[in-house]
Amino acid sequence: MLEPLEERLDQPLPAEDQDKEYVGFATLPNQVHRKSVKKGFDFTLMVAGESGLGKSTLVNSLFLTDLYKDRKLLNAEERITQTVEITKHTVDIEEKGVKLKLTIVDTPGFGDAVNNTECWKSVADYIDQQFEQYFRDESGLNRKNIQDNRVHCCLYFISPFGHGLRPLDVEFMKALHEKVNIVPVLAKADTLTPLEVKKKKIKIREEIEQYGIKIYQFPDCDSDEDEEFKQQDQELKDSIPFAVIGSNTVVEAKGKRVRGRLYPWGIVEVENPAHCDFVKLRNMLVRTHMQDLKDVTRETHYENYRAHCIQSMTRMVVKERNRN
Ligand code: GDP
Repeated sequence: MLEPLEERLDQPLPAEDQDKEYVGFATLPNQVHRKSVKKGFDFTLMVAGESGLGKSTLVNSLFLTDLYKDRKLLNAEERITQTVEITKHTVDIEEKGVKLKLTIVDTPGFGDAVNNTECWKSVADYIDQQFEQYFRDESGLNRKNIQDNRVHCCLYFISPFGHGLRPLDVEFMKALHEKVNIVPVLAKADTLTPLEVKKKKIKIREEIEQYGIKIYQFPDCDSDEDEEFKQQDQELKDSIPFAVIGSNTVVEAKGKRVRGRLYPWGIVEVENPAHCDFVKLRNMLVRTHMQDLKDVTRETHYENYRAHCIQSMTRMVVKERNRN
């Protein structure tokens, strides 16, 4: 809750400011902070990739919720004919009084059908529809309470069983890279040895470069950042595609209960950085880059869409005028 304005103005000045002339704009960051905490935050994450690669398991592990309680699993026959159906799950999560409305957009069935040509189309259409809705709301009368459903990030799951990217992966990412921030992940990393993970990552990074796929770029570090921060940032950039492991079960490892997968030879721990990049991915998504993902969506992807719309609207008006 905000304190009444008079009370805030009455608060004593910090000692170091008492002898200086103090206007008070140093409190601006606090004002922004309070306002945004009160309003709450929202974030929309899309997961895409072939079914069975562990998308829902990873999302549950990332946000420690069961988002897919009422999911209906399809049998093989249904999966062959199924088109890419897009579903949306929303949860409100709260941590230390900060509220986050998290929306997960799932694209089940992607890549399952016999003919997968243009299966990215419905995903691209979905992203455009959210931009269109936002554009309409923004140009309408009630701009104050716009519900923002734009997709801020797309986790693209790459199969651990192929040799690098498959043609479908290339096609999908190329079709979407100008619309959404793509973060590639190497699924089910526990099925690979550490050396295989390393080699696959290098191969995938090379292919991303070779095919001209523009994945989400982490912003460059400021030159005045400390060395530790710069090193962490470089490590994050070198981890692409994040090798991830998901699990819906808690197992006991060394006397501690952890999220993991139990095998006859031992346990893989989801949150152990020696086992996979899960923690790196979660920190990136939640702790360090969530705001940047939203900014890039707003400033780059949505702006492109908006410019496109305005151009075609202007062209139409000119055509109409010429005809008249
Ligand atoms: P989705 O169709 O992509 O949402 O995949 P699911 O999350 O439903 O997972 C499909 C199957 O893969 C389930 O049996 C999961 O237990 C299993 N699975 C999920 N994540 C992993 C993982 O990281 N490693 C392994 N080995 N199996 C996983």
